[in-house]
Amino acid sequence: CEFAIRFDGKSTVEGYDPDALREQYDNAEGSTWKQKVNSMRRDQYKVNGEKIRAQKRAAYARRKGYRMMHTYDDPIREKLGSAEESHPKKLAKIKKWLIDNGIKYRIDTSGRKIMGYMPNPRPGKPGEIVMESGASISAWMHERQHALDDMNSGWKGFRNMANINKYIEFESKAYDLEIDFAQKCGYDDIVKRLRKLKQEAIDQITEGDV
Ligand SMILES: [Zn+2]
Repeated sequence: CEFAIRFDGKSTVEGYDPDALREQYDNAEGSTWKQKVNSMRRDQYKVNGEKIRAQKRAAYARRKGYRMMHTYDDPIREKLGSAEESHPKKLAKIKKWLIDNGIKYRIDTSGRKIMGYMPNPRPGKPGEIVMESGASISAWMHERQHALDDMNSGWKGFRNMANINKYIEFESKAYDLEIDFAQKCGYDDIVKRLRKLKQEAIDQITEGDV
């Protein structure tokens, strides 16, 4: 975990309160800044233990070379708009299915273009879906497919991703679902783009770039 210390008050980090941090720093045990930072970290660890352990597990998984199941474009959004706009009932059904199966989902509003299924660093447990706000129904279907495949494997999670053939199979299934959907909608241009994205994803997996 990265630890940044800045007192200029210009930081835009969410939930960041320079005054509170300054106070915490001043009150922290230790005489050098290193001792103080370590002491603050220990305190935070007590408060936030589980969260930090989860972050560490995720960092470990990343070091091992695995990330969430890809970040990608959502071309059908240009035609249909968000899932909320075009398919509210279908979206509600997907969300219910996720909740019923213990799969968390969250909406990322940072605009970082992050979307994907992140398997649980602990095998045997459901992972988490991260969606961009405004994602299309097609993108929801894609990530739901990853969660479903992970579930059917007994939540093998990152172990599936470590197996190149399995990983390619999962990614292909998720894209084929989207391609099929775009075809049914009659969006030939989107079908073409999705096929290209699918191929790029497979190439990345093959080259070990994920
Ligand atoms: Zn995918």
